[in-house]
Amino acid sequence: MKIFKLVLGICIVTFGLSCSKDGDVNFFSKNDDIAFGKQLNSTILADPTEYPILNEAQNPEVYAYVRGIMNTVLQSNEVLYKEEFPWQIRVIDKDVLNAFAAPGGYLYFYTGFIKYCRSEAEFAGVMAHEIAHADRRHSTETLTKVYGIQILFSILLGDNPSQLQEIAALLATNGAALSFSRKHEYEADEYSLRYLNSIKQTRNYHPTAIIDFFDHMKEDSLTTPDGSFEFLRTHPYDNNRKANVQKIWQELGSPVGSKFETEHAAIVAKLD
Ligand SMILES: [Zn+2]
Repeated sequence: MKIFKLVLGICIVTFGLSCSKDGDVNFFSKNDDIAFGKQLNSTILADPTEYPILNEAQNPEVYAYVRGIMNTVLQSNEVLYKEEFPWQIRVIDKDVLNAFAAPGGYLYFYTGFIKYCRSEAEFAGVMAHEIAHADRRHSTETLTKVYGIQILFSILLGDNPSQLQEIAALLATNGAALSFSRKHEYEADEYSLRYLNSIKQTRNYHPTAIIDFFDHMKEDSLTTPDGSFEFLRTHPYDNNRKANVQKIWQELGSPVGSKFETEHAAIVAKLD
């Protein structure tokens, strides 16, 4: 069995180098992304003390809301792996200001984060940003850089469960070590805008809603490096991100839309 796994590992490493649909080189194949995300998801679901999943049967409106937004964003023709990835969303019932995406399209939002957002558009803007990280396959690019390809493939082969727990914890709570690069952040912001702009017929969000989120953090002085905003440890902020989004918005002809504040407040009220 060991020899089989070793040979399989070598085969994956030798032949696994592939290009994403966006042209970036990634040592993981699309199916590796899915397999890795599935394992990470199982690790998260197996630890309800650390990751208390909000009960769906008791909170149907909350799940209909978050899943509805996810499915709406996924209608965008800009999403590359909308059919291939098993897109899923879970709400973690903790007062933590974080959200994260595992490879393969597994999304997690803390109740603390949903409550923090002031409008449905702001929340959708951040969700679109998370979808972009998974869809552009930033997660596996970042994990490969931090852990190296050998450790990741040993996890994929089921040899390294404690490492999987560590990665889940880094993503969920204090993930400075798994911080996305500036390039990834700019790209996820750009695609947040592009996704929202391309689904306006279904839901007319203001396409630059991610900027509301930036402004919101700045108003609350959460963008300083020593701030206690968990989200920023994996998604580092810099002042050029807003200008980057605005530039693309102008290139798209400055489209406008709505914020849907009342709709979001109704869901937040259910979480209080
Ligand atoms: Zn990000």
